Amino acid sequence: MRAALTALSDDERMFQGSVRQFAAERVAPLVRIMDETQQMDAELVREMFPLGLMGIVAPEEYGGAGGSFFDAILAVEALSAVDPSVGVLVDVQNTLCLNALVRWGTEGQKQRYLPRLTADTVGAYALSEAKSGSDAFALQTRAVQHGEGYVLNGQKLWITNAKEAGLFVVFATIDPAAGYKGVTAFLVEKGMEGFSVGRKEDKLGIRASSTCELIFHDCAVPAGQMLGEPGKGYQVAIETLNEGRIGIGAQMVGLADGAWGHAARWARQRRQFGKPLAEFQAMQFQLAEMATEIEAARLMVYNAARLRDAGVEFLKEAAMAKYFASQVAERVASLAVEVFGGSGFVKDYPVEKLYRDAKIGKIYEGTSFMQLATIAKLTLGKM
Ligand SMILES: Cc1cc2nc3c(=O)[nH]c(=O)nc-3n(C[C@H](O)[C@H](O)[C@H](O)COP(=O)(O)OP(=O)(O)OC[C@H]3O[C@@H](n4cnc5c(N)ncnc54)[C@H](O)[C@@H]3O)c2cc1C
Repeated sequence: MRAALTALSDDERMFQGSVRQFAAERVAPLVRIMDETQQMDAELVREMFPLGLMGIVAPEEYGGAGGSFFDAILAVEALSAVDPSVGVLVDVQNTLCLNALVRWGTEGQKQRYLPRLTADTVGAYALSEAKSGSDAFALQTRAVQHGEGYVLNGQKLWITNAKEAGLFVVFATIDPAAGYKGVTAFLVEKGMEGFSVGRKEDKLGIRASSTCELIFHDCAVPAGQMLGEPGKGYQVAIETLNEGRIGIGAQMVGLADGAWGHAARWARQRRQFGKPLAEFQAMQFQLAEMATEIEAARLMVYNAARLRDAGVEFLKEAAMAKYFASQVAERVASLAVEVFGGSGFVKDYPVEKLYRDAKIGKIYEGTSFMQLATIAKLTLGKM
C-alpha cells in the first residue's frame, strides 16, 4: 500500500523536527525586530550553516547534507511558518543556487564553490532586470568575450539575498540578436572588480529578506566562471526555476500554517459573549475551511517535490502548487487578521506581518498569471 504524500520517513520527520525547533527557539524571537529594521540577523544566518540548512541539497562529498529536494521543501515550510523571510533565504540557497551548481557546474566549479556555499557563503540568483521580469529572457545585461573570459555590463533588479550573498548566479546575454539562445549563466563572486550591490528595496513584506539591485560595470569574469555552456543559460534558468517554484509553494504553505496556528490559539483564548471565540460554530467553520485549504496546498507542494525527486515530469504540478499555495497563503493570512479582530491589525501580534508577507507568493519566481499560462499550455495544449 502506498503511504500518504504527507507521511514522512523517520529521517524526514527528525529533520523537520530539528528545523521546527530551530525556528521556534532562534528565529521566532527575532521576527519582529528583523521586520522593523529590514535586516536579516547575521548571527542567525551563520548558525544555519552548521545545522546543514544552507547545504541541504549539496552532496556530502562537498560538505553538504546530501539531502533530497523534498528535504529542502520541508525546511522552507518549517522556517516560513515562523518567518517567511528566513524561509526564502534558505529556499534561494538550496532550490536555486545549489541546485544550479549541482546540475550544471563543472567538477572544478563544484569543488571550488559547493564547500563554501555549505560552510559560510550565501548564494543569490540574478535573472530579473528593470525591463525583463515575466519576459525574463529579454534581459539586457551583456557579456562580451574578452580574451579567454567575459566582461559583464548591465544591471539586475530585485535580487533576493543580495546583501548577504558571496556568490551570485548571474544571467547575461552573449548575443542579444539571438534572443533566449544568447542567454548565458555566470558565477560572480562578491568583490570581483566592476561588480557591486546597489540599492536595497523598501518592501511591503518579507522585509528582513534583502532585495537589491546589482550593478556590473566592466566586470571581468574569467572563462572558468561560466555555468553551463554559452547560450544555454536559458536552460539553466528554466530548469532551476521550474523546481524553485515548488520552494515558493512550500514557503506559502508554511506561512499559511503559521497564520492558522496563531488564529486557532487566539480563537481558543479570546472570549466574547461569555465564551472563547473557538466555541462559536462560525469561527470553527472558518478555521476548518482554512485548515482544509492548507492541507490541499501542502499535498500539491509535497506531490510536486516528490515527483521531482523521483525524476518524473512535475512541471504542471509545480506550477499548480505554487499558484494555489500563494492563493491559500493570502486567504488564510487575511482571515487570521480578522480572527484577531483589531489586534490583527497591529504589529504587536504576528498575523499582520504574515498578511504582508503573503503577497510576494503571487509575484516572484513567476507571477500567478505566468503559472496559469504554464498550466494552460500543459493542459489545454495537450488536448
Ligand atoms: C521581493 C522580491 C524578490 C525577488 N527576488 C528575485 C531574485 O532573487 N532573482 C530574480 O531574478 N528575480 C527576483 N524577483 C523578481 C521577480 O521574479 C519579478 O518581479 C517577477 O518575475 C515579475 O516580473 P516584473 O516585476 O517585471 O513584473 P511584470 O513582468 O512587468 O508583470 C507585471 C504584471 O503583468 C502581468 N503579465 C506580464 N506578462 C503577462 C502576459 N503575457 N499576460 C498576462 N499578464 C502578464 C504579470 O503577471 C504581472 O501581474 C524578485 C521580486 C521581488 C518583488
